[in-house]
This record gives sequence, C-alpha cells and structure tokens, in this order.
Amino acid sequence: MENLIIITAAVTGSNPTKKMNPAVPYTPREIADAAVESHRAGAAIAHVHVRDPDTGKPAFKRELFKEVLDRIRDRCDMLVNLTTSGFNLHGPDAGDRRLEPVSLKPDMCSLDLGSMNFHDRVFINPPQWSEKAAACMLANQVKPEIEVFEPGHIRQAVDLAKRGSFAPPPYFQLCMGVPWGIEASVESLLFMKNQLPPDCRWSVLGVGKAQLPMITMGILLGGNIRVGFEDNLFVKKGVPAKSNAEMVAMAADLATRLGRDVASVDQARQILGIPKAS
Ligand code: ZN
Repeated sequence: MENLIIITAAVTGSNPTKKMNPAVPYTPREIADAAVESHRAGAAIAHVHVRDPDTGKPAFKRELFKEVLDRIRDRCDMLVNLTTSGFNLHGPDAGDRRLEPVSLKPDMCSLDLGSMNFHDRVFINPPQWSEKAAACMLANQVKPEIEVFEPGHIRQAVDLAKRGSFAPPPYFQLCMGVPWGIEASVESLLFMKNQLPPDCRWSVLGVGKAQLPMITMGILLGGNIRVGFEDNLFVKKGVPAKSNAEMVAMAADLATRLGRDVASVDQARQILGIPKAS
C-alpha cells in the first residue's frame, strides 16, 4: 500500500468563475460530471463545493449538496468529500448550517481549524466549532479531511486527536500558498510535513502556479495530492485547463513517472480507514 497515491479532484471551490475559465462547473450536473470525469482520469476522491446554478456565486444549500452527491453516486463509487467551509454563511446559525453536509453522510467532509486572513476575508473557525464539527463527523461516520493552512492548525488538530476526536488515521490536507497562510515553498512543505503526527495520512495542494511544484513534492515525499479548479485554472503558464479531468490525468501521469501507483477507490478507502457503506 505504501507506494499508492490518492488523487483528489477539487472540481469547483467557491472562487473561480466561468469568466476566468469557461470549464469551471456551476450546476449540480456540471459539478457531478466533472467529478465523474476526474474519477475516470485517476481521482479516487471528489472534493465538492456548490454554486448558485444560475449565477455561479458560492452557495451552501443542502439540496444542492445532495443533488451533487446523488448524481456522483449514481454513476461511480468514488469517495465524495463535501466542504464545510461555509465561507458565504453569516449570522448566528452559520456554525450549525456549516454542518448540514455532514448529515448527508458523504464519505468525507473537510474540517477547518483556526481562524485566519484568507485573501481579502477573515475565515472564522472558533475552536469550539472545530471540536463540534469533529464530533459531528465522528457520530455520522464521516471521515474528516483536516485542512491546515499554517502550522498552528496542525498543533490544534494534534490536540483534538489526543482527545479522541478523530477515527484513526487522521487525514490532513496541507494547503500551501493561500494568502495569508503558509507560503508554498519546498522548505515550508517539509516543515509542515514534519509537524504531522506519525500515525496520520496526508495530502498536499498548491494554489495557482504552486500547484505543480507542490504536488511534485507530495509525490516524492510519499504523500497524496490534490488538483482541480478550486486551486488552479491553468495546465501551464497562459494555457487554461480544459477540464478538471485534464489536470487529474496530468497529475496521475506525473505520479506514475515518478514511481507511484495511483490508488483505486477501494485502495483509498483502505489507506484512509473509510469502510464501505453497508
Ligand atoms: Zn474546498
């Protein structure tokens, strides 16, 4: 199993628009199609945000998440990871609404720790919310993908892990190069990796032009990798990606050339400790 690499496709995120790249998916059908195509290209996991189908603006509606989940599950067995970042949610019930995707019982949900400046906004994750979110995922048997944007987030996750908040093994996504988290450099990635607890699994993403260097490092260091429109819109300088699947295929090819074998969905389940739903 050690040589296997799990590829995640983050197919839409909340920031990229069709103006930036016409292939960015908005509707549940487009998002599910992008996930399924990415699966055929080598992705074992789809990381999913939802958009207002008409305007493409970030949305956070249970029925949109459900439609994407159902559409993917109708067509393939890939693992589905729904976001709980809820960036566009405001008001006193925002924390609870962020956990609505967990109740749909996807295979995984992203889990954010620590508050930070995120581009031009503040990404608010009170410690009490992260603890509650972890407990909610544990109760629903949804695997958390612990997103960490700087080393303090890892410390917080290790503390939660010590208190039994995660089913083993904890799974980290090292998010490199988000303004104003840690920068995407070789030194930073090595530093982040060295802070991880020994019994965890990890993946890495790089934002924009850092995507290729960061996933290359991830492949070489024995980690897992994430690509897709949420992180990057180009296959190389000045050349927009035609699809998420194109980026996944490139990542799979790179991993294979560097001696890693691309994990199937069943292998990814085994690596991450995600039992098949009965
Ligand atoms: Zn995301």
